[in-house]
Amino acid sequence: MQRIKSILSSFLLSLVILSSLSARNISIRDQISHVSLGTIQSIYFGEQSFFPIEELAKLLSIPIDKNNAEKTLTLFYKQTPIVFTAYSPFVRFGNFNYQMSTEVRFPNREFYIPLTGFIGGMEASKINTMSFDESQHVLYVVTRPANLVRLSTISQDDTVKLVLHTTSPFREPDITTLHEDEWFYLTVNGGIIDVKNDLGFEHIPEVFEIIPLQINRDQARLSLHLAPNVSGVNVRCLEESSEIVINLATTSNTSSTLLAGLQKEREKWKIDRIIIDPGHGGKDPGCVGPGKMYEKNIVLNIAKATKREIESRMDVEVILTREHDSFVPLKRRTKNANEAGGKLFVSFHVDANRVKSLRGHTVYFLGPAKTDAARDVAQFENSVIQFEESQNEYAGLSDMSFILAANAQNAYNKESQDFASMIDHEIKTQCGSRSHGVRQAGFYVLYGASMPNILIETGFMTNSADRAKLMSGEYQNALAKAVADGIVEFKNKYESTTF
Ligand SMILES: [Zn+2]
Repeated sequence: MQRIKSILSSFLLSLVILSSLSARNISIRDQISHVSLGTIQSIYFGEQSFFPIEELAKLLSIPIDKNNAEKTLTLFYKQTPIVFTAYSPFVRFGNFNYQMSTEVRFPNREFYIPLTGFIGGMEASKINTMSFDESQHVLYVVTRPANLVRLSTISQDDTVKLVLHTTSPFREPDITTLHEDEWFYLTVNGGIIDVKNDLGFEHIPEVFEIIPLQINRDQARLSLHLAPNVSGVNVRCLEESSEIVINLATTSNTSSTLLAGLQKEREKWKIDRIIIDPGHGGKDPGCVGPGKMYEKNIVLNIAKATKREIESRMDVEVILTREHDSFVPLKRRTKNANEAGGKLFVSFHVDANRVKSLRGHTVYFLGPAKTDAARDVAQFENSVIQFEESQNEYAGLSDMSFILAANAQNAYNKESQDFASMIDHEIKTQCGSRSHGVRQAGFYVLYGASMPNILIETGFMTNSADRAKLMSGEYQNALAKAVADGIVEFKNKYESTTF
């Protein structure tokens, strides 16, 4: 009984110690593709970060052997047994002994390994398959090597060949392609690409840039930004030589086609059609307030008021992405906007937050979120894809590398930011709304818009004062007027600018 008591009290004591220690998530990512493999939670003893080795082993499917009598744990990692001993700084990597700067901790009979000591030992024993980024708290692990390794170019008369060299052959069914305006996307099923590597690509006039992206564990994509004289693209797989060949057909540019192109560019910049996007709709209510107050209804009212306001003042056409309480998938909204030849895209939403005192508006443009709050808002707005049938079309979109790539592809990033700050200023001064400023986040609805695009969180459903304002027709009209004024300002500035 005494023994049980003492075990129990030491267990409780260690629980208290554990819970009082600060903890931090370590993100585990693939070294090559940066795809997330999961997270484990490290804890701090003093300044040092320790991680639970059994959780890492489980996550990476590394076999282990735990010897409770000897208080040792053996990790069978890529043919090398790595042996840790509780309370000891010595680790055996195969036949090699390494002394870490501090000993292995053993709370609740769990092995906690000092992270920097462990990585140091891996390096010293030449197992270079893990590395730790201390600033980002990311542990990179080599799981499988890249198989899309190098790009070379061959020019011949009116065609240019881009050759993607692979470590094993790919077949044509492994390849999907999409050619959209000046972008060509090559997706390789089973492809693994090192996103930090430029693949040895040397710049050629036909291709402005190439962005490598690992979409998920099994799909890699090359996005090619093509010059205007590229008239056609086709792809062939050469299985014998393990090559994927991208053939670019080019037309020679005459001065008359250049001039016609310039004229077309100028017309493109006349802001004569504006797309207003009331968020959510139909089976997707958006955020919900007391007494069946739905975001979808509020934003539809604001959108309609904005359309009236703009069309009464300017000779522009305003198209709503939905006119009724109907469900429209996110991708269709920008696709329709592009096809309609929209020149500005404005999405209306209503915010929600656990903190009921939060009130005011925020104007977003597309980019990697800089704060957790911005990320949370985008996550909520993006969650509507649960209502959509083809959810996996969005696979990989929330990945940071995708957002960066999408951003690089977004030719209207600077204009969107400028537009966002004009709208923010008008709402702040005209509606007496508290401004949370102009922010960036990864909203799916803004991906792929071929025009300057912003998303306005008009106020908080969770704040009673904001809620009352947003429900009133008067305030909805005031918002519409402020947005219209912002659009006039943007139109005046950008139509006079030559690009
Ligand atoms: Zn919303």
